[in-house]
Amino acid sequence: MKILSADFLLVCNDEFEILENAAICFDKKIIDVGSREEIVERYKDVKELYLGKNSLLMPSLVNTHVHLEFSSNRTYLKYGDFLRWLGSVIKYREIISKECKEECYKNALNQMLKSGVGIFGEISSRGESLSYCVNAPQKVLFFNEILGSQPEVVDILYNDFLNRLKESKKYASDKFIPSISVHSPYSTHPILIKKSLEIARSENMIVSTHFMESRAEREWLDRGEGDFKRFFREFFPHIPVIKPLNSAKEFLKSFIGVRTLFTHALFATREEFEMMKDLGGSVIHCPISNRLLNNAVLDLKLLEEMKLSYSVGTDGLSSNYSLNMWNELRAALFLHFDRDLISLSKSLILASTKEGAKALGFNSGVLEKGRSADIIAVKLPGECEVQEIAYHLILHTREVEKIFIDGEEECPIS
Ligand SMILES: [Zn+2]
Repeated sequence: MKILSADFLLVCNDEFEILENAAICFDKKIIDVGSREEIVERYKDVKELYLGKNSLLMPSLVNTHVHLEFSSNRTYLKYGDFLRWLGSVIKYREIISKECKEECYKNALNQMLKSGVGIFGEISSRGESLSYCVNAPQKVLFFNEILGSQPEVVDILYNDFLNRLKESKKYASDKFIPSISVHSPYSTHPILIKKSLEIARSENMIVSTHFMESRAEREWLDRGEGDFKRFFREFFPHIPVIKPLNSAKEFLKSFIGVRTLFTHALFATREEFEMMKDLGGSVIHCPISNRLLNNAVLDLKLLEEMKLSYSVGTDGLSSNYSLNMWNELRAALFLHFDRDLISLSKSLILASTKEGAKALGFNSGVLEKGRSADIIAVKLPGECEVQEIAYHLILHTREVEKIFIDGEEECPIS
């Protein structure tokens, strides 16, 4: 059993409760949270560690969407327009994959760990990140991705996906959960969607998908026109008539009975958000990736008005310059410039703790009795009034002082 105490403790419950001079007692799970005096008195035999002036405790962060298999990318890929980016991904995919070796994965995992990420959702397209995720210090929801549009290769692609899923299942544990990701409505054949979601439904998996990330996707799915039409024509010159594989509505309907995370949703309509909510789904917000690839910002105001939950993801280094969650939160703070600073900061912190853990299905993200002891300690750079903490925390935090996962202190992997 351990006791940590700090000047502030962010519970990260819906009320955004902040305790002053607080302490937390935990082993693998959180045993008690309260005032420093109370906790020290109640657990006399347990050694207390006070974290010092301006210290703060909160749940570890959750990065709900990352593609570690792209972690070697720095300047290969082209930003500014989604199709330009996609073209560069196709061109450099093999080089990026080849350059992403042990050191590269280690750095990516360490960057997340140092920024306080205790849980993440990995989208694996080729199974190459599997061993690194199995051995990561963090808890992982491992999404085996399925995609492919050409009917003649559907069986080959499905078998490859099944093999990857089967391989990942060998390592299933409390901290490594294998699952499924359906790439997107524009790239995945309806047969692949149907078959993979049948597995997800019968095994009660949480599934991830990309949805309405670009304006081009909207135009293509609604009218079969636009940049995607030109892109597909170039990519599949042998096919005389190219049509969208799915309508947005049909695509969403295929997720009935599956807990689904809809990533990006930049160009989703209100009706589509309502469908996501009815499905029991939530949205993943990747603000930096959205700025770099699509010049767009998620309509958080609408999500909050509709009470549709969102979490935060860095996306991969294929569309970001870092996997540091605080960089992501800072970007969000500035991108949503028309929102009230204090309430937006609180909303972003809850999205990357409580909502993130809920999205990935881990009993974590709130500092309360019975939850997993996934905790970070942060140092504020100076004295701070309670009501100003949320935005100062986002503005000033680069790395955390300590991170505990299931009650054990974790250090970067060497
Ligand atoms: Zn993604």
